Amino acid sequence: MVETLSIAVIGAPGVGKTSIIRQFIYNDFSDVYAPTRTRYVYRPSVILNGNMYELKILDVPPISSFPSSSSQEWLDLRCRGVRNANAYILVYDICCVDSFEYVKMIRQQIMEHRECSSNEVPILVVGNKRDLQMQRFMPRRAVSVLVKKTWKCGYVECSAKFNWHVVLLFKELLGSAVARGMRQNHTSIRLQGALQRNRCSIM
Ligand code: GDP
Ligand code: MG
Repeated sequence: MVETLSIAVIGAPGVGKTSIIRQFIYNDFSDVYAPTRTRYVYRPSVILNGNMYELKILDVPPISSFPSSSSQEWLDLRCRGVRNANAYILVYDICCVDSFEYVKMIRQQIMEHRECSSNEVPILVVGNKRDLQMQRFMPRRAVSVLVKKTWKCGYVECSAKFNWHVVLLFKELLGSAVARGMRQNHTSIRLQGALQRNRCSIM
């Protein structure tokens, strides 16, 4: 039986969510901005250590807040599946402070509104557009310390444009899912050992 892991990708408009997902799955990038208006689900199959897993990656269109209840999630089609995702990627643009404030708000709301123990859900904060780092609003180290030490989330910077650290960020997230799975005795424990370099591939 194939395991499924759902990952919700959330962030302010234009930060590069769709670009990151499309680089990861299709090795594809466009400089033309086409805003994502409806929720889109990508289902790549990933081979990890000889086992096949299905990722359900939710490209979440702009939402004003994380759904606070199941009914809110069901009323708003854009949020479908967001509350019960197995892991979150919160993307911001390293040159746009407002997009970081948005990630801060969503992360806080995940902690408040998830039904099960939110401390255990892996959250990876991703600073995208690293190729434009001359215009960044805060030094990388300062953000990294804040996110890792205070928020207790993972932190990776990437460039969807140059496919830099894109695979790495998905490996990081799966790594966190594995670590938490070990504590919870979750089935994702079986991913352990699969995340060594060059052993994660997309079919
Ligand atoms: P989304 O609204 O978060 O899904 O953002 P998109 O993926 O649609 O990207 C928004 C815009 O940013 C597009 O014009 C992309 O070409 C551009 N973009 C995305 N990632 C990068 C990146 O890493 N570097 C640069 N320079 N531009 C990027
Ligand atoms: Mg998009």
